[in-house]
Amino acid sequence: MDSTETNLKSLALRLGAKLVGITSRDRLFDGPPSADPRYLLPTANSVISFALSLDRDMVQDFIAKRSWRPHCENRKAIAQRLYTIGDRLSEELRAGGHDAVNVDLNNNYRPEDAAADLTEMTEFHPDFSHRYAALAAGIGRLGWSGNLVTREYGALVELGSVITSARLSPDAPIPDHDHPCDRCKLCSLVCPVEMIQAKVSHQVSVAGVTETISRKRPNSCCWIGCSGYQGLASSSTWSNWSPYRLPQPLPEKREELDALCIRLQKADPQMQDANNSFTNYRQAIFTPDWFYYTVCGFCRCVCAPSREERRANHRLIINSGCAALSLDGSHKVADEKAVEIATPFGPGVVLSHDEQRAGEARSGAWPGQFPLDREVIAHLRQQLRSAEEKSDPTE
Ligand code: SF4
Ligand code: SF4
Repeated sequence: MDSTETNLKSLALRLGAKLVGITSRDRLFDGPPSADPRYLLPTANSVISFALSLDRDMVQDFIAKRSWRPHCENRKAIAQRLYTIGDRLSEELRAGGHDAVNVDLNNNYRPEDAAADLTEMTEFHPDFSHRYAALAAGIGRLGWSGNLVTREYGALVELGSVITSARLSPDAPIPDHDHPCDRCKLCSLVCPVEMIQAKVSHQVSVAGVTETISRKRPNSCCWIGCSGYQGLASSSTWSNWSPYRLPQPLPEKREELDALCIRLQKADPQMQDANNSFTNYRQAIFTPDWFYYTVCGFCRCVCAPSREERRANHRLIINSGCAALSLDGSHKVADEKAVEIATPFGPGVVLSHDEQRAGEARSGAWPGQFPLDREVIAHLRQQLRSAEEKSDPTE
């Protein structure tokens, strides 16, 4: 390997990357459209892919519903670090006379013919896929879930990519005999909206590698679960961290799922906010008081490197209980007397028993920083006050 590749990798590692690899435009050529780096940089010749690992203890506390916010804050800190690494790599490449693009980490999707704006999107194909780059660069392989799975950290990683016009020597993908996914299929058991089918597969080819992975349900299905519009598993015994519940089971047909997703997005207060993380993800990540609202990702969180740990993670999830909203904006585990209350936004919300009094509502300290939570809390407080006034005519 010549010194340019070594220097770039060393720089990424010094800045905190745990894994780093390089691939080329030529190697990505056989991949799906989102593997083409020329979409973002027409002069692209190479891609540097890098990964940071999530804090494993925080992941376990998150999936067990012992604590919610540390994992969210860990994701934000990691995203800041990934942006910083990508910026420094880009500066280094530009100083050497090359073009370079630090690919946005999330929420950048290719336009869809049928969608006038984000609220009407249902495909969610990224401008450039960090996963395909990481596969081609030898960082990991696609697991049954479709997530990038590494030998060192399982799927508990976040990815970044820098696309450049520099011609760099590519690394080789991880060979089949060293594939880090052992097909335990536990990822298919921890998705509350049953996105990941256990038995039906399809194939994806990138960089000369063919992956056989789950044929997942349409992307709008994950969007509904991961955005938190529906958090309850079909067993009704556990949920992700979302306190929201749709009145009906998710439809099977794609057109109906897509239509539901659009309805939910159009009613979501977050989508009315001109400054949301969809319009500028990087800005959100570096805004000090922006909270990285994470309610799912359970398919990734379950996927630790060893099967024993994955089994343990699966048990944590299915025994974690169901999430409820607190009127201070936090989420907690629902108690036995929790009730589901209708909201004007589509899904109902689960409220814990000890929150069902306006007096407690007024003492809330943390102003739910996610727009849907914030609006729902304002709605609930109003309802609770009205109910108290009716029951106490002297007020
Ligand atoms: S949970 Fe198991 S089957 Fe799913 S991606 Fe991870 S290792 Fe593969
Ligand atoms: S992120 Fe959540 S909703 Fe989406 S596929 Fe994974 S487990 Fe399912």
